[in-house]
Amino acid sequence: MKIEDVVCPFCGCLCDDLVVEVEGTRVVNVENGCTLANEKFMGDHRLKAPIRRAGNGWEAVSYDEAIEETAAILLDADRPLLYGWSGTYGEAQSVGVHLAELLGAVIDNTSTVCHGPSIMAIQEVGHPGCTLGQVKNRADVVVYWAANPIEAHPRHMSRYTTFCDGFFVKSAFRERKVVVVDVRETDSSQVADEFVKVNPGGDYAVLSALRAIVRGKRDLIPPSVEGVSREQLFRVADLCMSAKFGAIFFGVGLTMAQGKNKNIRNAIELTEELNRHTKFTISPMRGHWNVYGSNEVFTWITGYPYAVDFARGIAFYNPGETTSVDILRRGECDACLVVASDPGAHFPRACAEHLARIPTVQIDPHVNATTHLSRIQIPVAVTGIDAEGTAYRMDGVPIRTRRLFYGNYPDDLEVLEKIYRIVREARG
Ligand code: SF4
Repeated sequence: MKIEDVVCPFCGCLCDDLVVEVEGTRVVNVENGCTLANEKFMGDHRLKAPIRRAGNGWEAVSYDEAIEETAAILLDADRPLLYGWSGTYGEAQSVGVHLAELLGAVIDNTSTVCHGPSIMAIQEVGHPGCTLGQVKNRADVVVYWAANPIEAHPRHMSRYTTFCDGFFVKSAFRERKVVVVDVRETDSSQVADEFVKVNPGGDYAVLSALRAIVRGKRDLIPPSVEGVSREQLFRVADLCMSAKFGAIFFGVGLTMAQGKNKNIRNAIELTEELNRHTKFTISPMRGHWNVYGSNEVFTWITGYPYAVDFARGIAFYNPGETTSVDILRRGECDACLVVASDPGAHFPRACAEHLARIPTVQIDPHVNATTHLSRIQIPVAVTGIDAEGTAYRMDGVPIRTRRLFYGNYPDDLEVLEKIYRIVREARG
């Protein structure tokens, strides 16, 4: 059976034009997807049943046993941490937040190690953003700053920018100018009209120089700023100011570089400066397919987008204190539930070591680095394949992912609701 208009649940582009061929409970072919999408849909490395650590190995357990033991671990803990959430859908994320409130736990999502600094900057100075549809149809200048879409979001350029014609941009490849700013050459820089190579850690200074030029202070610019010549800075600023509609996309190379949220604040203020001359927008390149959704859902319910601590009985948010990396590094939490993410692969070593010391439970379809730190793993259906739910694209547009077939696994929502019910009963 061929299913059209399928949404890809891999990266923040949430491409919704895939054609997927299904035989029984297997995907046998994917059209329109990039290599990452093909791997996601066709990959066949799922954990078959819940597992629990037994001595040096693992034993299979039933779903009921795994769920009851998970609830018991969370109920026993004084300072549980519920981490992940970016690889699942809004309905499941919502149960996660309610579970955290009931437990007095900390709930955090993967923004903590990607675009958390972007959110902090947006909280300070706002977000002049737009939808990807607007970029596709209007933008004649696109800037990728510390982002490599060809590798991380392979269809971003072909669906929205460099290779994609729009309503007001009839021949994108010729009419749309692309600038790539990065610390090294990448596949994306190869297709750029202008590649700006910045010294590592030099983004803040280069952004400040561009702001000064856009403000009309060219005479203040030294011959070179963090490896970028004055002439190139003038050229890039002129290109941006002459645009009819410009769009900046920035990646974790900017959020996680020296300067962090201050880099993003500076980039937003450059965008504001450019808006004195023309229309310009700025948007983060969100990685996980529903990390934006986790920020939305957390904010609707608690008022805060990530790193929410319910230990005081109310929602408390203080990045640097209530963020999971900090909590784990301090050795503070005594149990952890990981949902739809892989901190074992992405967190600093000291955090991974603490996860291995405490009872960690993982809810995830696949064996990954976190499995080796966990005491229990509960496999679930994959959203967008054998489960469905709402996700948010990187520009904040909600999109409903589809279930392609009914498989043998429960979905995240089902498992989390069962844990929630046991905890609620125990807490009265
Ligand atoms: S670009 Fe991202 S959302 Fe689109 S098909 Fe590739 S992995 Fe999926």
